[in-house]
Amino acid sequence: RTFQNVALVVGVTGIVGNSLAEILPLADTPGGRWKVYGVARRPRPAWNADHPVEYIQCDITDPTDSVTKLSVLTDVTHIFYVCWTSRPTETENCQINGAMLRNVLTSVIPNAPNLRHVSIQTGGKHYVGPFESFGKIKYHEPPYSEDMPRLDYPNFYYTLEDVLFEETGKKEGVSWSVHRPLLIFGFSPYSMMNVIGTLCVYAAICKHEGVPLRFPGTKLAWENYYMASDADLIAEQHIWAAVDPYAKNEAFNCSNGDVFRWKQLWKVLAEQFGIEEYGFVEEGPRLKLAELMKDKGPVWDEIVKKNELQPTKLEEVAEWWFADLSLGGSGFTDSMNKSKEHGFLGFRNTKNSLIYWIDKTRSYKIVP
Ligand code: NAD
Repeated sequence: RTFQNVALVVGVTGIVGNSLAEILPLADTPGGRWKVYGVARRPRPAWNADHPVEYIQCDITDPTDSVTKLSVLTDVTHIFYVCWTSRPTETENCQINGAMLRNVLTSVIPNAPNLRHVSIQTGGKHYVGPFESFGKIKYHEPPYSEDMPRLDYPNFYYTLEDVLFEETGKKEGVSWSVHRPLLIFGFSPYSMMNVIGTLCVYAAICKHEGVPLRFPGTKLAWENYYMASDADLIAEQHIWAAVDPYAKNEAFNCSNGDVFRWKQLWKVLAEQFGIEEYGFVEEGPRLKLAELMKDKGPVWDEIVKKNELQPTKLEEVAEWWFADLSLGGSGFTDSMNKSKEHGFLGFRNTKNSLIYWIDKTRSYKIVP
């Protein structure tokens, strides 16, 4: 079989990596047919195994492992970098994440003569600063646009861009794009930040215990406008940028194109799990899932057993810290004008997107 293009998806088991692994091999995907290599740190999980991808287990923090496993992929035409790792401080995040991207690019670029494009994924924290800076620095006012200048605070997103510009600049004919989603709605039990998966686990526990689905966030978050980014939509934007000449060497926001309030989506979540009593309780201190759920490991084990779910531990499928952060902000919105003006007209209905990813999480038997 001959392929028109050959993709290397770095982070293929992540929340957008899994969408790229599903969409790239489809017959009608732009630039297809694609041959797809997928890199991730751990052995291949069952929920990723149906995608026609050549899976490569590689630790890209390790330069030797990266060169050994990636320099031999001489037919790669496009790199999709949807990967990150976390360290205690942002300065360390900059070091490790910059090194990871550099390990990939210096292993592939000199050895893949037909390489044409590298896309990387960063996000809305480009405009507001890393988690550790929240409440400490003045950031841009939403809605965010791509021309807003960088903030004066370390940010691994800026390091990733700088490494991208430097390494692609070394070879004639290799273009780049940067994709900046907001809160991602998608599927991956291996993601470090999967808000839908986490809220599904919370709802399943509330249902099991017969208690109301209380909103564990702030009043501001309950009331304000937010935007989300569907993981399939982000994958579509990466692929568009990879094959469309108007998208070359640009950064693009990527969000669904509508706004939502958590109070509206909360009703949908409750309905999906058959919970009648739900809502925001104003009295008392703010609820935090990290606190509320800290002893629920045995309850989760019971739910998994009773419903014959995939065997998982609570700490693997629920990132309470991330849900607490996501439901504690003051409304994040961006502008999709630049993306549309350059020709990407994709969108999602966020309510439908929520239901779609809940269904997916269920169909892989992660939640009942
Ligand atoms: P993720 O956590 O869902 O997936 C990470 C992937 O990278 C996994 O496949 C993992 O195996 C792989 N990986 C991690 N360390 C590795 C290593 N040492 N070697 C090889 N592979 C490794 O990722 P994500 O959430 O899609 O994050 C990608 C980018 O998107 C990040 O910059 C993140 O900040 C940004 N972002 C995420 C969200 C969100 O809601 N998840 C929102 C906005 C922006």
